Amino acid sequence: MKDTEKLLRSIPNVDRLLRSETLIACSLPRSVVTEAVRQTLEGLRARIIAGEASDIPDDADICSVALRAAQAVYNAGIRPVVNATGVILHTNLGRACLSEKAAKAAYLSSRSFSSLEYDLAAGERGSRTAVLEAQLKRLTQAESALIVNNNAAAILLILSTIAAGGHVVVSRGELVEIGGSFRIPEIMELCDCKLREVGATNKTRLADYEAVIDDDVRALMKVHTSNFKIIGFTEAVSLKSLVGLGNKYNLPVIEDIGSGALVNPEKYGITGEPFAAESIAAGADVVSFSGDKLLGGPQAGIILGKEKYLSRMKKHPLYRALRVDKMTVAALEETLRAYSDIHRAERELPVLMMLSASPELLLSKAEQLCSLLQNKGVSAEVVPSMSTVGSGAVPGRELSSYAVSLIPGSGGAAALDSRLRTLEKPIVGRIVKERYLLDVRTVFENELAYIADAVAEVIV
Ligand SMILES: *Cc1c(COP(=O)(O)O)cnc(C)c1O
Repeated sequence: MKDTEKLLRSIPNVDRLLRSETLIACSLPRSVVTEAVRQTLEGLRARIIAGEASDIPDDADICSVALRAAQAVYNAGIRPVVNATGVILHTNLGRACLSEKAAKAAYLSSRSFSSLEYDLAAGERGSRTAVLEAQLKRLTQAESALIVNNNAAAILLILSTIAAGGHVVVSRGELVEIGGSFRIPEIMELCDCKLREVGATNKTRLADYEAVIDDDVRALMKVHTSNFKIIGFTEAVSLKSLVGLGNKYNLPVIEDIGSGALVNPEKYGITGEPFAAESIAAGADVVSFSGDKLLGGPQAGIILGKEKYLSRMKKHPLYRALRVDKMTVAALEETLRAYSDIHRAERELPVLMMLSASPELLLSKAEQLCSLLQNKGVSAEVVPSMSTVGSGAVPGRELSSYAVSLIPGSGGAAALDSRLRTLEKPIVGRIVKERYLLDVRTVFENELAYIADAVAEVIV
């Protein structure tokens, strides 16, 4: 006990450490450094009391621990990450990467004043989304278009406008939760409408919808089950049949297609994924989807459909609360511009580039990464891999790809994973059977050299 007290008494004081050369020289805010020193000393005190520390480290050692802690606190936050998971739309890694042009447009719109809501020809107030709406109408043949912050916001606006005070019919098989407490039943409640569930989880027929239609029903809704897949004995009603039923009873049909590709995903071997133009052509009255999934743009919620419904949404007070900012407008306009020519879109938009990458291209990228690693003395081999689209799009559908497989070294795959994750520019791959895999489908060409250097540095 006496030793413990002696140790505790010899813990250096905060001011003395703050006057040390290392801490005086560092450029971090003084408050951050002071807090880090306090916490480092608190930690030391706790270890002494627990009997885990038998001496007091040098001032220099304490200062360098505190400095690292201060740097970590000050630099914490969003940062670029290398995505070697093979998941193209990884919600945790920010979903779609913007094209160079779209990113530049967002940058420029934020670094100077802009014509965001100014009609330059007329010299008067203009509309912030008129150009976007025209682009979307051209690309999908929709009668009308509208943009909000994300697809969740789009659904909120749609239901609040069309169905508040009434009932909405949805199949039990489509009552999805789309991550982070966004559940269709709860959103209905929030929009003051009542959910009328029909059918069973695995089977819903048109007659099930028809059976519940009464004077309270305001809309029929279809939700793309984008983050799970019911397989086996299933039956769902096609959008076309639902539209027929809607017409019969004069009820609007709303479809949340989730991902909202602007080109038919079948082009990339992805079947069964709805896309915007198809839903419009099938006669949906209102269609909503995200801007940052298969479309490959910034976070946004896009609503397409009949003018008669969308014009009411534009007048709803929620529309103002959910409106997009200028960086989104600029980036989305530029993203949609790329779609004027599908080859251009596949060259410029990272999501389409990654989706359309040929097996030969992926193999050559993997071989390139592998030899860069081998040249640095890392044992690596190219292996076939499976990439996924991710972000709820296309559940259960995998795309064959190639990965570089690493033998993790002494700490095992988990230790390598942790070291790569905590680099200044982190690398996120996948652990498969004690190997560390870097799937090249989602890796940019200009990241290969960095990956090789970083892995060679941390692998032991
Ligand atoms: C992803 C998704 C959403 C949520 O979209 P956000 O743009 O993230 O708000 C809603 N519905 C479906 C079917 C989805 O796949």
